[in-house]
Amino acid sequence: MCGVFGAYSPSDFVAEEVYLGLSALQHRGQESAGVAWIDNNRRVNTIKGMGLVHEALSQSVLAETPVRSAIGHVRYSTAGGSMLQNAQPICANYAQGPVAIAHNGNLTNFDELRGILENRGAIFQSTSDTEAILQLLAHQPKRSPFEALLRALAEVRGAYCLVVLLEEGLVAARDPWGFRPLSLGKRGDNYYVASESCAFSLLGASLVRDIAPGEVVLINGNGVTSYSLPIKSPKKWLCSFEYVYFARPDSVIEGRSVYGTRQEMGRKLAMSWGASGADFVASFPDSGTTAALGYAQASGMPFKAAVVRNRYVGRTFIQPTQKVRELGVRIKLNPCPELFRDRSAVLVDDSIVRGTTAGLVVSMVRECKARSLHLRISSPPIKYPCFYGIDTPSSGDLAAAKCDEDDMARTVGADSLHYLSKEGMIEAIGLPPDSLCTACFDGEYLEGAKSFNHPPGCCGGIFD
Ligand code: 5GP
Ligand code: SF4
Ligand code: MG
Repeated sequence: MCGVFGAYSPSDFVAEEVYLGLSALQHRGQESAGVAWIDNNRRVNTIKGMGLVHEALSQSVLAETPVRSAIGHVRYSTAGGSMLQNAQPICANYAQGPVAIAHNGNLTNFDELRGILENRGAIFQSTSDTEAILQLLAHQPKRSPFEALLRALAEVRGAYCLVVLLEEGLVAARDPWGFRPLSLGKRGDNYYVASESCAFSLLGASLVRDIAPGEVVLINGNGVTSYSLPIKSPKKWLCSFEYVYFARPDSVIEGRSVYGTRQEMGRKLAMSWGASGADFVASFPDSGTTAALGYAQASGMPFKAAVVRNRYVGRTFIQPTQKVRELGVRIKLNPCPELFRDRSAVLVDDSIVRGTTAGLVVSMVRECKARSLHLRISSPPIKYPCFYGIDTPSSGDLAAAKCDEDDMARTVGADSLHYLSKEGMIEAIGLPPDSLCTACFDGEYLEGAKSFNHPPGCCGGIFD
């Protein structure tokens, strides 16, 4: 999972705004950050680094960079390792001019495309799937960069939200299935593109609309021009997990407030699995808090902020090993003993992946001598891996792939454990079921669906 941001202004310098936009998208990726722009000599420039936005980039340097269009990226690796080489935007000065690309998502036909391109002489500089798009572009040297990009995108499959910088303008593109969110924002004559609308508020910009699945938007002195990719998919595949966990609650995706959908998930969970006789509801902060508030509201129980989060340690998944991951949860979350002692509590979290967080929090609360503990999860069990840009482990490491609710309750040490149903989650999101991806919950992948009738990797006719 990653965050992308782009800015275009007819009059203002925007590099610092890209920095600020990336800071608002920091939750989408903490491994590396980068900003790219095109200079007066028609060369693409980039600043990239490992770590958080403020560690990787210099705000003061960007504030003094006099450019009217720039793009940026925060990375959380799914395809390709965590190293500076794979940090984005990825950039090139090729036969037709400068190009910079920032990508959120995962291409599912990358291996095939890479094979075809290497047979044509391409030398890949990174292990990132995004490079395939750049190579496809560069292998069409007689076409304008924008036309070459449109043709390249007709060849790639899977999940992508892109911001691309060309001499022709700032480009935003969303795959025909609409896996990841991408929004268009505006302030005066300035345009912004961001993975999530929460990045606009910081800049005093407002959300205009979502970029539609299969839409490519070109922003330049002529304003905003919209193009459609040739691939049409009757079913859309917007990631339901964005609403469950990934997006920030102050974002609006497809007209649905993430905060509102999470609260509704909690309400529905309480309506199905209210724990009678508990004294209060608490959450695994921060990710479970909005759903816990909804749960408390619907069940009539008070909400208590009884598990405290250390704000200064990052998201647990960032740590690579199981040992460090487990330590990370202990460093991050700690219960208030006096609130739990001799009390019965409902604990709400948004999801169980490996089961590490739930197991450790329950055991810490047990040490506080709680009378009973009821775990409620505001998403369905995650049983299948994601191939569309979220770093869930393979089925073997997904706790829910191996056990039902009772087994899971025993494993993590809770007196009861229940999940929100898939139907409940979809109702809470409030979008039609055929507009959402739920593959990690039900195993129904795009590649197995009837709407995926476009064989990957043909590249017929795009090379001259
Ligand atoms: P577990 O400890 O079961 O492996 O992971 C569950 C916890 O991780 C939950 O509290 C949830 O909020 C969080 N989580 C779920 N999916 C992801 C993800 O893709 N990345 C990160 N960093 N955390 C996640
Ligand atoms: Fe989102 Fe799950 Fe689909 Fe991946 S498989 S895109 S995490 S809903
Ligand atoms: Mg969490």
